[in-house]
This record gives sequence, C-alpha cells and structure tokens, in this order.
Amino acid sequence: MTTAASTPAVLPADWRWHHAHAATSLSAIDDLFPGRFDLDGLDRAGIEAATERYGMRATPYYLDLARRADETDPIWALAVPSPRELNVQPEERLDPIGDERPDLAPVPGVTRRYRDRALLYPTPTCSVHCRHCFRKRLVGNPDYALTPTELDAAIDWIAGEPELHEVILTGGDPLTLSDERLLSLMARLANLPHVWMLRLHTRMPVVNPFRVTPELARGLRALPVPVTVVAHFNHAAEVSPAATAAADRLRRAGIDLLNQSVLLAGINDEPEVHRRLLWALLRAGIRPYALHHADLVPGTSHRRTSLETGQRLMRALRGTVPGHALPHYVLDLPGGHGKVPVDQGWMTTPGPPASGPPTPGASSPGATMAAPSTSAPSASGTAIFRAPDGGRHVYPPRNDGRDT
Ligand code: SF4
Repeated sequence: MTTAASTPAVLPADWRWHHAHAATSLSAIDDLFPGRFDLDGLDRAGIEAATERYGMRATPYYLDLARRADETDPIWALAVPSPRELNVQPEERLDPIGDERPDLAPVPGVTRRYRDRALLYPTPTCSVHCRHCFRKRLVGNPDYALTPTELDAAIDWIAGEPELHEVILTGGDPLTLSDERLLSLMARLANLPHVWMLRLHTRMPVVNPFRVTPELARGLRALPVPVTVVAHFNHAAEVSPAATAAADRLRRAGIDLLNQSVLLAGINDEPEVHRRLLWALLRAGIRPYALHHADLVPGTSHRRTSLETGQRLMRALRGTVPGHALPHYVLDLPGGHGKVPVDQGWMTTPGPPASGPPTPGASSPGATMAAPSTSAPSASGTAIFRAPDGGRHVYPPRNDGRDT
C-alpha cells in the first residue's frame, strides 16, 4: 500500500503502479488522496464491516475519477463497499449464474454453457473489486488460481472438444496477467484448429487503462485468429480521456471492441444517464453490446432493479441513440441455464410470486409453451423465461433451491 508521502502529484501512466497501489480500505483511500475526499459523514463502521465481508480493491486511477465520497457518485458507488451490502436476500447466491454447476464445469477453470463457446478463467485477480461482481466468490481468492498443471489440463480439455469455436478468457481479469503469460496462453488456444476466435472480458480499459499498451495491442493483433475485447463500462464518468486512448489503441490495432454493462439502480437505470453512457462509448469507438440485468449476488439488492425497470429503460432509449448502439438487454438465468433476452419473446407468461406455488405446468418438462410475449412481469415482479436449454424458469427463482 502506498503512503501519502509516496503518492505522486500526477499519477503515473503505468498500469503496474496502479495495480500495485490499489486501495484496500477506506483509510488507504485517505492515504492515497490526503484530504481529497470528505470521509467524515460516512458510516465508517458499516463500510469496514462490508469490506471485511467482501473485500475491497480500487486503483488510484479509478478512484481519481470520483468527485465525492458518497454513493451518489457513480465511481465511488462502484468501487467502495457500502454498508447496504450487509443486507443479504434469501434468493441471492454465491454462484448466481451457475458457473460451477458440475455438468457445466468439466475441469477447473472452465465453464461451458453453450455448444460452441467456453469460458476459461486464467486468473482470479482484478485491479478493482466491483461491488456488483457476480464472481465475487472467486475474485481475489487464491483458491481459484489455476496451477500450471490445471491450466494445461484446461487447454487439453478444450483441445479435445472440436465443436468449441470461441474461447472467452474471463476472470478475474485476464489483462492482469503479463503480456508474456496472456499472449502465450492465447497463442496456445489460437493454434487449436477448431478454435476460430478468442474473446477477452476485461474491466482494465475502465479501471486501469494504461494496461492497454501499444505492445499488448500489437500482440493481440498478431494472433492467428480474430480477437474481440469486451470491456465493462457502466457510466459515462468512466469513459475518461485515458480510457478513450486505450480504446483507440485497440481499435487502431484492428481489435474489435465491445462493451457490456450491468443495469444498476442509482448508477445507470435512468434513461438520460444511460443515454450519456451509450453516446460516450460511441464517441470512444466502443460498441455497446450487452446490458445485463444485475445478477443475484449476495448483498447487492440495493443495486438490482426490477425487470420492468430494465424494459422501460430500453423502451426509453430506443430512438435516442442509433439503433446499432442499443445493447441487448439480457438476463443470465440463475442456475446456469444461459442468457435470455428480456424483451424479445423469451419471456412467456407472468409467473407466480417467488414464494408461492408454481404455475401449473410452468416447470414441468413437456408443458405446452405459452405464446411468447413482451408483456411486463407480473405485479409480484416474477416472470417465466424460456431458456436456451429448452427449460422454463421462474425469475426470481423460488427460495426452495429449485430453479424451475
Ligand atoms: S473486473 Fe470483472 S471479474 Fe473483476 S471484480 Fe469487476 S466485474 Fe468482477
């Protein structure tokens, strides 16, 4: 951890420095930026209790984007623990989208939910621990670090799956690896004859954009298969000049650059706020791609919206940005059943209350599918989705451990 005396007046454009000096407590923020933030009015005990439970990590670069130390500031809210995280709801889960479901996780470090794609988690390390992260259980947890033998086994497994055409490196954040480790891993994957494309899911362009060096961009370009980088910007305040420069380096190297956001109450659920995010991305040459309904992550109910709020937002955005800038609003069904578009016919009839009895036939295999509709969820806030695996699933799920 840095000290006040060691914090340079101008923060260095060096990703390793920002990664190494990430703040892990409220007092570390004060040490990094002495007197910059007014911490007096904060519920310190609550923040420290939430930090103790979930951990905290935020780069000086990212914290420097914050204007004030309270949850009305999107950067602060996305990076600094909130006492509200201590409120855990019964439907929330450590593995909200079933990454570790045994039939989806054939070897350590791999999840395969779809026939043609698989996720590979080469590291549990991130430069910032996002408060809404759906992989909180593994981020910063050394138990999830793959040994060289496990990584070899994961690649061997991928090598034996000829129908897998895209490998998505995710995490943790794969861009926290050195160029050498990242590019050699990607080259091993790219040289498998059935792997036709690679994808990187990363928040480094947002929280530590100096990571996107010209050398890295050139290294990605030199791989024998197309590479897509999917960043994770949630608010226009994150699209800084440094982030825009990072995007520019990738774009000029010929790397396809997309963005996925998470719909977060009080951060980006207002149409005008979201419109500004989409335009900021477009100006930076980043294509909006997905808007994820917030997952059932422990301690995040204060950031989760209703499905109806998300649908209203999408309706309000249509016509205010170019059509190609409208992200797909999707829900990752709890239990590992895959992503469903929320407003494009995957939602069928409104479901029963989460605590009530199931709708007759709603979860029974072979039940007649109601005509898809784009109707809003029921007044209770529940809905039934048709999943890519053919099943029908109540959302939010019941609290009895069943997903259907
Ligand atoms: S960078 Fe991604 S994996 Fe890491 S904490 Fe944030 S959301 Fe989670």
